[in-house]
Amino acid sequence: MIYYQAMALNKDICTIGIDMGGTKIAAAPFVNGKLVLDELLKDVTPQNNPQAILDLMAKMVNSIKEKHQVKAVGISTAGMVSDDGQMIGGCGNIKGWKGTKVKKELEKVLGIPVVVENDANCAAFGEYMVGGAADFDPVLLVIVGTGIGGGIVFNNKIWRGKHFAGGEIGHIKVSDKHNRRCTCGAWDCWEAYASGTGLENTAHLFFADTTIDNYKLMELHQKGNETALEVLNNWHDYLAIGMASVINTLDPEAVVVSGGMAQFINYPKLNKKTRDKVIDGVKDYVNIIEGILGNDSGMIGAACLANLEVQAATPVAAA
Ligand SMILES: [Zn+2]
Repeated sequence: MIYYQAMALNKDICTIGIDMGGTKIAAAPFVNGKLVLDELLKDVTPQNNPQAILDLMAKMVNSIKEKHQVKAVGISTAGMVSDDGQMIGGCGNIKGWKGTKVKKELEKVLGIPVVVENDANCAAFGEYMVGGAADFDPVLLVIVGTGIGGGIVFNNKIWRGKHFAGGEIGHIKVSDKHNRRCTCGAWDCWEAYASGTGLENTAHLFFADTTIDNYKLMELHQKGNETALEVLNNWHDYLAIGMASVINTLDPEAVVVSGGMAQFINYPKLNKKTRDKVIDGVKDYVNIIEGILGNDSGMIGAACLANLEVQAATPVAAA
């Protein structure tokens, strides 16, 4: 009988994490459960040329392989990824990337397993395996940046959904009033209010000044400006509305927040506001925390996925 080992991280397995973005590609070895940032490689993302992107990633991997016994590669990329590692649907701002069979093409030239996963899912997996959510299960990651993204992890698995769009929580609806258009084309999505862009738009309304940005807003808030405080309270209200909906849906043990705006959130305040909005069954368990991996979470999550892939491919005979 063949079975698979429990899927904890095996620190003896060295993998590589790659962060594939619209402007840059970064890669680093993941050794003993840690990303080796001293050996981080970084380059500009070739535009409109998927083959050049693949070549660049292969070059980075081969360079890291010179020093490490790399067993697999994990790639965290913007866009939706199919089960067989092909780019489908929207690919963020990576031109020409859609349709690329990333896993197949890279495995062909590298000769080791390659795992490709959406960047928000990778970030969630990183925080779940070795980050701020390492002690919790299930976990929801909410990325609050220019938009709002999300990833759901449970029992060492990512909830990818039937069509690989699982965790797109930025587009849950928080109103039917047609007040704000979202980047997805629909009205009144959560991210239109609770993202960094949403916060800035609220500031424009409250101050009647379209030049005010989030940095200026935070500066005013620090100085005790009352309108700035109102804007930030409103932002926390909207953050709590969406958080309550996803917590009521998923009942996660923790919600981890990352992204560029995560540092501006008042977590005790957000936890309280969310607690006031959820059903009784989960009221005592609302646990919204800040992630600890920062911008490296995607790369780390991808490297962890590669680590588990190696283990899954190594069946162990039962005694
Ligand atoms: Zn939307």
